Amino acid sequence: MLDYQAKKDLLTNKIILVTGAGDGIGRTAAITYAAHGATVILLGRTQRKLEAVYDQIVAQGYPQPAIMPLDLASATVGDYQHMAALIDAQFGRLDGLLHNASLLGTLTLLEQLPLQELELLLKVNVVAELAMTQALLPLLRQASTASILFTSSGVGRKGRAYWGAYAISKFATEGMMQVLADEIDGSSVRANSINPGGTRTTMRASAYPAEDPLTLKTPQEIMPLYLYLMGDDSLHENGQAFSAQLKPTISK
Ligand code: NDP
Repeated sequence: MLDYQAKKDLLTNKIILVTGAGDGIGRTAAITYAAHGATVILLGRTQRKLEAVYDQIVAQGYPQPAIMPLDLASATVGDYQHMAALIDAQFGRLDGLLHNASLLGTLTLLEQLPLQELELLLKVNVVAELAMTQALLPLLRQASTASILFTSSGVGRKGRAYWGAYAISKFATEGMMQVLADEIDGSSVRANSINPGGTRTTMRASAYPAEDPLTLKTPQEIMPLYLYLMGDDSLHENGQAFSAQLKPTISK
């Protein structure tokens, strides 16, 4: 999927919400979507990081973004309803939702995994995604076509020792994507998942501290799949699990 070439105006007039937009892959995805014409809503827990991304988008002359600070570890159903009301008032619809924010947690044997840690990771990596999707589906249905992207991982598709709560949460994310995709099949909204593959970010460095980051793809290099699945070239894709670093297998 690394050689998909998005048209410069692929996302013109689209309103796209990106979670975890302050850093790593989410930051690059937000800037890339804006560069392709989207108005992006930057959601994250660290306001100063969101403001830096906002400033960069504005400085490049891309459509003015919106900032939505929210900590997914403590967010309530009321917060998601409030978020939906704000988006409704400002834009009246939502064309894309990239669920990207996640916690890694500790790499440890399942036998020793503290249950509070599993609860925290399920809250941020799974429950928050469902609660946000529930609140935003009416707005996604207001768009002529809409794309929901979930972020998975290699360990969300095949279990691996020590990946603990993170792997469990990513399997749950894949399952949620598949169930949702089946429920919305044939409608104007579609849902798919992306496994970014090893990518040069803070999360990757904390999982693999001894690794040379220069051997990894940058977030920028994996953007072709993020663009393909968010834009209208992928209207026929629903319920599929994609890998950002594999050669393209675009189905027709
Ligand atoms: P980073 O840790 O670099 O960035 C994660 C982002 O999520 C940060 O902006 C962070 O905010 C935000 N975030 C974390 N917790 C919360 C929270 N409670 N509320 C709101 N925002 C939160 O991770 P990556 O960019 O590497 O990962 C992005 C996605 O890709 C994740 O879903 C990850 O699981 C997945 N992935 C990454 C791989 C990789 O090699 N990098 C490989 C496979 C999957 P803040 O900046 O404030 O901490």
